[in-house]
Amino acid sequence: MNIKRCICGKVITRNFDLCDKCLAEYGADRSKWDEWLVFMVADLKREYRQQAIIDEREIPFSELGIY
Ligand SMILES: [Zn+2]
Repeated sequence: MNIKRCICGKVITRNFDLCDKCLAEYGADRSKWDEWLVFMVADLKREYRQQAIIDEREIPFSELGIY
């Protein structure tokens, strides 16, 4: 399972980094985002990519050395 989540915890189904509610609140223009928001989105994206890699290669968590 590879689920993308918004910074608020909501599952995102569209190809964007925020849910509709947060998108309406913070806007689609990243250059206008606050620093904490940029940081949180980047952090979630990293987690999402990592999850995608795990799903793809089916590597046991123990072999990744992160647990
Ligand atoms: Zn959200």
